[in-house]
Amino acid sequence: MSTIELLPNHLGGQWHHGQGAGSTLLDPVLGTPLVRVDATGLDLAAGFAHARQHAGPALRALSYAQRADLLARAAQVLQSHRDDYYAIATANSGTVKNDSAVDIDGGLFTLSTYAKLGQSLGERHHLLDGESVRLGKDPLFQSQHILSPIRGLALFINAFNFPSWGLWEKAAPALLSGVPVVVKPATATAWLTQRMVQDVVNAGIFPPGALSVVCGSSAGLLDALTPFDVLSFTGSADTAGVIRRHAALAERSVRSNIEADSVNSALLLPDAGDEALDLLAKEVAREMTVKSGQKCTAIRRVFVPDALYERAAQAISARLAKTTVGNPRNESVRMGALVSRSQFEAVQAGLAQLQTQAQVLHDGAQHALIDADPAVACCLGPTLLGSRDAGPAVLHDTEVFGPVATLLPYGTLAQGLDLVRRGQGSLVASVYGQAADALRHAALDLADSHGRVHVISPDVAALHTGHGNVMPQSLHGGPGRAGGGEELGGLRALGFYHRRSAIQAATPVLAGL
Ligand code: NAP
Repeated sequence: MSTIELLPNHLGGQWHHGQGAGSTLLDPVLGTPLVRVDATGLDLAAGFAHARQHAGPALRALSYAQRADLLARAAQVLQSHRDDYYAIATANSGTVKNDSAVDIDGGLFTLSTYAKLGQSLGERHHLLDGESVRLGKDPLFQSQHILSPIRGLALFINAFNFPSWGLWEKAAPALLSGVPVVVKPATATAWLTQRMVQDVVNAGIFPPGALSVVCGSSAGLLDALTPFDVLSFTGSADTAGVIRRHAALAERSVRSNIEADSVNSALLLPDAGDEALDLLAKEVAREMTVKSGQKCTAIRRVFVPDALYERAAQAISARLAKTTVGNPRNESVRMGALVSRSQFEAVQAGLAQLQTQAQVLHDGAQHALIDADPAVACCLGPTLLGSRDAGPAVLHDTEVFGPVATLLPYGTLAQGLDLVRRGQGSLVASVYGQAADALRHAALDLADSHGRVHVISPDVAALHTGHGNVMPQSLHGGPGRAGGGEELGGLRALGFYHRRSAIQAATPVLAGL
């Protein structure tokens, strides 16, 4: 019998320990065991039924403004435990403080933002969608579209890289909509998600069963979904493919939102000027190193005019060279670990794949680790690759989920924009330049293949929110390879948790809606 603590799951308003041996979560820097998770033996069908039959109605008995109050209270509770969350992130994700903040404080900020947005919806219990329109000559009979909260539950299957933000960016709009939540965090970093849910549940803020957490295997979760439930998945394209083929989606029409991998770009416009080149170099280096490049939005491909290839390579490499890598507990370290040994190996494999067509411009292996044993720690310095030939498919198809990016040159701007689109749909592209007309033109050109276009000019150098930072006010998600999903974007996020229907009736009936 293992002496490592087994974290309880919360389902059906109660705490349950898994009945199996479970999986042990590890410190990716020290290699030491931390806690165990296990979902063996949970009665998922009963737990899900409880959420639909008890928690959902209790949530929906409240107005949007009342539920927004609950979100604000949850944010306060989480705020009071912040130090615990930082300690868990250091131990389980191997992140330095600034990188833990992206996840922890990013999650709290998103939750608080929805608490404020929810107040603007007031004491309503459903939402109107547009104006009523007459259906014939006589204006008495009209159609009014409304949005009603769904009566099912929201299942979140999340990725390892954002155990906090990944929970709250989904749970905030779901709970605000009146929809109970079951979250299944990625096993490798499930601890932080589990602890946050535990703190909020123990504070007794939401109705029993409104917030559940199942840690460990995903087995049976999709089988337990019924037609009015929704599924929000974040993770790899491979797992997304398995999920899309599951009967819950393919046969029972469970609504799904899929956020998958994405080979995001940064594009320096022609005639952008020195300042814009510096801004690009700074942002690329930051994106490669924040959370060791384990951000779905991180810059993977960097496109510059052919004549600026060398200068860009030098500018980015000079910044990367200053990155200190190793144990996040050491104050001098700027970049911590990859999340696990398997992730470390996946990054090495991805690097090898890219190197079949690209050369090393800055070698991460040259960064000596600080306070960390290279034989144990899953730490890796940032590597910039480059190829004078931007043509090979592997350079546009390969997402290396770590501190790696590839510099590529382009000829005409039209060619550069086409190269960006070879990512087959991405979460975000950033564009660097000076002239407003040129920046606007590029943004419009890339908009249909990206969930977000982040435009950086010298006048917003100190103001912009960062290529990879997902702000709750803006859309997160992308077409094609990025999964085709849409999250956040302010109150737009509530659409996923509501059902649109048209009420056709006499105007006095519609007037009361
Ligand atoms: P992953 O291996 O696909 O796992 C994602 C989640 O799916 C985990 O909770 C995992 O559970 C679960 N899972 C695995 N197999 C499953 C199955 N057959 N049925 C149902 N669930 C299953 O992805 P990851 O390695 O955690 O995350 C890295 C990937 O996520 C990267 O490709 C990254 O680009 C992407 N990502 C995208 C976004 C975005 O917003 N677009 C954000 C973050 C990350 P276990 O952990 O227990 O296996």
